Amino acid sequence: MVAFEEALRRVLDAATTLGCEKAPITGTLGRILGEDIIAARDIPSDDNSAMDGFAVKAADTKGAEKKNPVSLEVVEDIPAGRVPAKSVGSGQAARIMTGALIPRGADAVVPVENTESAEGKVAIHAEAKKGEHLRRRGEDVKKGELVIPRGKVVRPPEIGMMASLGIASASIYRKPTVAIIATGDEIVDISDSPPPGAIISSNSYSLYAQVMECGGVPVSLGISKDTKDDLLRHFREALRADIVVSSGGVSMGAYDFVRDVMKEIGATIQFWQVAQRPGKPVAFGTMEKTLFFGLPGNPVSSMITFEEYVRPAILKMSGHANLFRKMVKARLSGDFEKKKGLRYFARVRVTIEEGEYRAALTGSQGSGILKSMVEANAILVIPEEVTALKQGDFADCQLIDEPISGISDMR
Ligand code: AMP
Ligand code: MG
Repeated sequence: MVAFEEALRRVLDAATTLGCEKAPITGTLGRILGEDIIAARDIPSDDNSAMDGFAVKAADTKGAEKKNPVSLEVVEDIPAGRVPAKSVGSGQAARIMTGALIPRGADAVVPVENTESAEGKVAIHAEAKKGEHLRRRGEDVKKGELVIPRGKVVRPPEIGMMASLGIASASIYRKPTVAIIATGDEIVDISDSPPPGAIISSNSYSLYAQVMECGGVPVSLGISKDTKDDLLRHFREALRADIVVSSGGVSMGAYDFVRDVMKEIGATIQFWQVAQRPGKPVAFGTMEKTLFFGLPGNPVSSMITFEEYVRPAILKMSGHANLFRKMVKARLSGDFEKKKGLRYFARVRVTIEEGEYRAALTGSQGSGILKSMVEANAILVIPEEVTALKQGDFADCQLIDEPISGISDMR
């Protein structure tokens, strides 16, 4: 039996970041950039107007006021997208729209609100400062600048930035494929009408969703009987995946063959049994770069062990730097007793009250009580050495409804 920290360390040591693939930028949302984005051009590419108004020589507007306007000759009309044909000389102005290129000779824009147009002329009602209401070439991004570093999670701003740099597709880390195998002679699929004693394979579905939620590609391989032959068949089929996740058949029972089968197909068992509750019988094996997780069959144990081991592995393989959920200290609404030497993962609902996080257990903590997960939005993580927590104590809670950490750098 290993300690939780050691087990997690072995998983993360074995999980290696996958290679990259190219995708159109709209397909990169939430993924990790596999290349540095370096600007091949200035943004903006030339000086342009930040306002609708008149491009002028600032010096010409000196002393201009509403009561004492300066009159300039309008030499040209420059809508956005048109290249100015003339330059602005002394005593002249060009009518200009937001985003249009600044004509040669002009060094400021007077907003239209501070002007009055008359036949071929414009009266300027306010002094303009040199450079005012201009967007300078390269003021957003300079050519050659590293704009988005490799390893960053792509969000809408990154997609907009790549588009503005003229980048239509970008390199991102590949998502791991995750084969999911349910095991158990008593386990049936939803569509089968369950005979007496049968249990619907909820794990196949919760695991599938957990894989999707953290950005993996789930492939469900159905349900294996509790025989070595059928397990071997399922595990062999799973070998095409980056990660193989099974549920059930990994405890001490007479028909618990998952570990044997992992070994038989050539995997090395890195650990079996972790000092934790729930999820003690979890097994982890490796074969070259493929990871094998033998999760326990109880629905809560299966989800918790996925959350604590498989999820960080998927995130690491997908190129993420932040592998863990956001943790908060929450004040407990009741007492909690536990066995020394085991790490506990209790299901809680965390709320914010009177400016602090509060955590309340979501009912019975049995590892078969799936409702305790349905009602939870966090996992209360209690370290090995602790034997009791009292109402009012603060304890660590892992927020499991939070999106992938690393989407934001603010934590
Ligand atoms: P096992 O780990 O195989 O001993 O299974 C432990 C418990 O989890 C048993 O009560 C099983 O019926 C249940 N179980 C196993 N696999 C699944 C599954 N795929 N979906 C729901 N419950 C399961
Ligand atoms: Mg079983």
